[in-house]
Amino acid sequence: MNAAIIVAAGRGERMHSDKNKVFLPLLGVPVIVHTVRAFSDSGLFGDLIVVCSTQNQDEMRELLSSYGFDQVRLVPGGATRQASVLCGLRALPKGTNYVAIHDGARPLVSRRVLEDALRQAADKGNAIVAVPLKDTIKRAQPDGLILETPDRASLYSIQTPQVFDYAEIIAAHETYADRQTATDDAMLMEWTGKAVYLSMGDPENLKITTPEDLAVAEQILIRRGMKEADKPMEMRIGHGYDVHKLVPDRDLILCGVKVPYERGLLGHSDADVAAHALMDAMLGAAAMGDIGYHFPDTDPAYSGADSMKLLERVREIIAADGWKVSNADLTIICQRPKLRPFIEAMRDSLAGHLNICRERISVKATTTEHLGFEGEGLGISTHAVVMLERGGSDCLRDEKSNG
Ligand code: MG
Repeated sequence: MNAAIIVAAGRGERMHSDKNKVFLPLLGVPVIVHTVRAFSDSGLFGDLIVVCSTQNQDEMRELLSSYGFDQVRLVPGGATRQASVLCGLRALPKGTNYVAIHDGARPLVSRRVLEDALRQAADKGNAIVAVPLKDTIKRAQPDGLILETPDRASLYSIQTPQVFDYAEIIAAHETYADRQTATDDAMLMEWTGKAVYLSMGDPENLKITTPEDLAVAEQILIRRGMKEADKPMEMRIGHGYDVHKLVPDRDLILCGVKVPYERGLLGHSDADVAAHALMDAMLGAAAMGDIGYHFPDTDPAYSGADSMKLLERVREIIAADGWKVSNADLTIICQRPKLRPFIEAMRDSLAGHLNICRERISVKATTTEHLGFEGEGLGISTHAVVMLERGGSDCLRDEKSNG
């Protein structure tokens, strides 16, 4: 089986950014996603490894998973590029045939380049992707005095991937693990004295190093027919349930709407049982705990709290992870009073506080034919089901307007 190691453990010093450049967006999609997609879509590699720094592991795992690359293995890198490649090589099975080592910051590598390199490796044992130099090269002293003009015809600009026989390249890496001065993997093979061969690259297979490179890469992608932000939409479902007791001398608040009745719900906050079930469903869908965790009833700050304020806070909590409510369906279980006259006001109230259109909110009410605590009028319960969504190019399609 052939394998690919994509190295993404560097930092973005030359991008004037603290962020690893492979996370920067290229037409709305992170650079590393383009790179992984090129290898994954080629179908040429049975084993696909991304080497990234330990502190980026969680972000990388979540990112690749959100684009459906669940087959990609993440391996923690080392202090230098050379050390990171060795980490990737050690993670591959002994029986691996050829391994392609590629820069995570080269997102535009084409299938033609990958196929040519693999074919040549099978023929000659390795393939170092390169393009002929277009510029004349000078060798000069630090003071600028030109020493010589090497013959351009024999000079090449080296790209990746570099494809090697697995046993040979891991042996070279292990042998020279103490000499961390190789600027590419071919150099290690050269040190061993093995013959190393160039393979034809592509001028478009550029490395994203400076902000200008990103702009050029975007133009190339647009010419190739790619549109902005083709990230697939992700959806999650959540359920919430809550019960509060009916007592005298309390207001009855449901979905932020005051319902006239001789009794109201008892609780630390305004005891809006429907809003509580909805919030728990939202947090549940995002796997971010529950309202007891975010707003403990031991905290005096939430005494008599307006649950609609808490709902807005929950909307912000899930939005921090990119989630928004796609739709919600609530069933309020209540024998008395009759809720039908208030249903539309409840939908408007929830939609307003969630900042989505009312067509995405359903509120239903049912009795229990006088059975159980709700039927006996002792309390009111609510079930809520919520769908969350994030990503997708049309995620703002009907954001409620302020006008
Ligand atoms: Mg509650």
